Order: sequence, then structure tokens, then C-alpha cells
Amino acid sequence: MNRFGYARPGTIADAARILAQPGAKAVAGGTNLVDLMKEGAETPTILVDLKRLPLDEIRETEGGGLSLGALVPNSTTAWDERVEARFPLLARAILAGASPQLRNAATNGGNLNQRTRCYYFYDVATACNKRAPGSGCGAIGGINRIHAILGASDQCIATHPSDMCVALAALDARVKLHGPDGERFVAFADYHRLPGDDPTRDTMLQPGEIVTAIDVDPFECGDHWTYLKLRDRLSYAFALVSVAAALRMEGERIVEARIALGGVAHKPWRVPEAEALLAGEAASPELFSHVADRLLQGAVGQGGNDFKIDLARRAIVRALGQAVAGTPQTIADKRIA
Ligand code: SF4
Repeated sequence: MNRFGYARPGTIADAARILAQPGAKAVAGGTNLVDLMKEGAETPTILVDLKRLPLDEIRETEGGGLSLGALVPNSTTAWDERVEARFPLLARAILAGASPQLRNAATNGGNLNQRTRCYYFYDVATACNKRAPGSGCGAIGGINRIHAILGASDQCIATHPSDMCVALAALDARVKLHGPDGERFVAFADYHRLPGDDPTRDTMLQPGEIVTAIDVDPFECGDHWTYLKLRDRLSYAFALVSVAAALRMEGERIVEARIALGGVAHKPWRVPEAEALLAGEAASPELFSHVADRLLQGAVGQGGNDFKIDLARRAIVRALGQAVAGTPQTIADKRIA
């Protein structure tokens, strides 16, 4: 591990000022960054510990929404009665991720900013454009079972590992940031980047900016939601493919649909044109297949992950069927008494 400085600011302004320094990295739960530092994949000059900042509450917002503080642990968010009642899709997605111990330590802001779990990114003996720009991409032509089928580039085919972010994307959340120019909001769909020709940057976060909260507005879908996660093990595994679906229905007809995919791209994947195909229509397997085709338009495998294209197509159809029927994914109740 490299030598680094350590700061524990007491105000958001101080934290932003220190984070503007070259090589400074924010840390809160440390469930990802510390692992990366041990491997030498992250070498910060100064660690900015955010845990003293007043960002550890879930607040009500106008219109029945919630503002999820960046330092609220993932588990606290998932089990908050208001989140469970108003955003069960979000609660279920959070509980599908990691382990109870990790969810207790990991924070909401950290969940957004976690890095890919691409094996080559963690192994400093291998080529990785995200870790070492210009060195190449070990996953292209290498082991790429977990990698992207959508939105990748010839520089990087990594996926974003979060479950929580897939639900937040489907819920049209907004990311609240504080930086040198004050506060700003970024639509969730715009917060994470595709790799393009600069895979070193995962998000639109600028130097000196901090995620302070994530705001979510109600989406009236009743029981018509689901979070379907497909993975190699039932727990403590990242998604090969996941689907967050929420449908606003009137009788048998779908009025409005929100669908986001996880495990398939460098960011949660949404296609508004695919969602529009459902508006005003009666549910049917044929329609869901059509929507899946549109969501996966342009999907490309890299060899080891070719299976994901068909897996994703089947997952989308199944998730939409579950959402229409009001039968969320059945998984064990992970609450620890
Ligand atoms: Fe690095 Fe991205 Fe290639 Fe993985 S997929 S080796 S993170 S450049």
C-alpha cells in the first residue's frame, strides 16, 4: 500500500476543498476503496474521511419523496419504514447486494461511487485502461464472463456492480452534489458514464465534488414492481443480469413503465423507447419479448459473456411478468433480528 495523508473534515465545505487536491479520494464505509488500496489498484495521495459530515439522515421531501443521505448505511436505508413502504423496489434491490456485514458498513454515496469488479482492474500485473490508461484491456480477448454486452468500447468492457443503482435508475432518482460552485442535482441517468475513450472516469463527479444525498420521488406502481437478480450464487455475488421493473397500471393496461438493467453495462441501462412500447398496452409475453429486443438492441458478446444476451432477454420477460402479477422476486427474508 502506498503512503497517503488522512483528513477528517467536519464540514462539507472543508471536505470539498480537500477533495479538490490532486489524488485525494473520499472514503466512508471503505468497503471497496480499502480493498483497492491493498491491491495497489488505487493509490490516493490523501484519504478524506467523510464520516463526520452531517449526511447521515433520511429526510422527507415535498410530494412524499425521500432524500437519502449519502452517509446512511445501505442496511439502514433498506430497512427504513418509509423506504420499505414507498420504495420497496429500492429496498429489495439493496438487500440483493453484498452481505449483511457489508451492507451495514457501506454507505449510499459509496454505493454510487464503487468501482467495477473486473478482475483485471484489481490485478496490477495485468493490462487495464481503467487503472492504467493506455495499457490495454485484459478482458477483451481474456476472461470476460461478467462483462458488458451493452455500451462498451474498445477501451473497456467493464460493468457497474451495484444493485441499488439499478433501482435508483428505474425510479428516476436525482444525485445531489456539493462542490466548489455550490450545490447541483444530476439526473441519475446522467450520473454514471459509459467508458468511451476514457474508462478511468466512472461518473460525472468533478474534482472537489461530494455526493451529499440521493433524492427519490414517488412512482405510484402499487404491487407492480420487481427486482430480479440472476447470479452464480444466491447471495454475496454480483449480478450477471438484473432487472428492476415498475409498472403503473390501470386494470389490465400498463400506463407507464420503468425498466433498468444491471450487470450488462458500465452504468444502469435504460432505454426510454423500450419503456414507451408498454404504455397503453395490455400485458402479454409477445409484447414483453418485443420490449426485451428493444432494450437489448445493439447487444454484443465478447465470447465468455455471450450467454448474457439470451439471459437478459429471458430475465426482462420474466421480470415484466412478475411486475404485472405483483409478485416480487421471492428471496429469503434477509432481515437480521
Ligand atoms: Fe480494465 Fe475495463 Fe478492460 Fe476491465 S474491462 S480490464 S476495467 S479496461
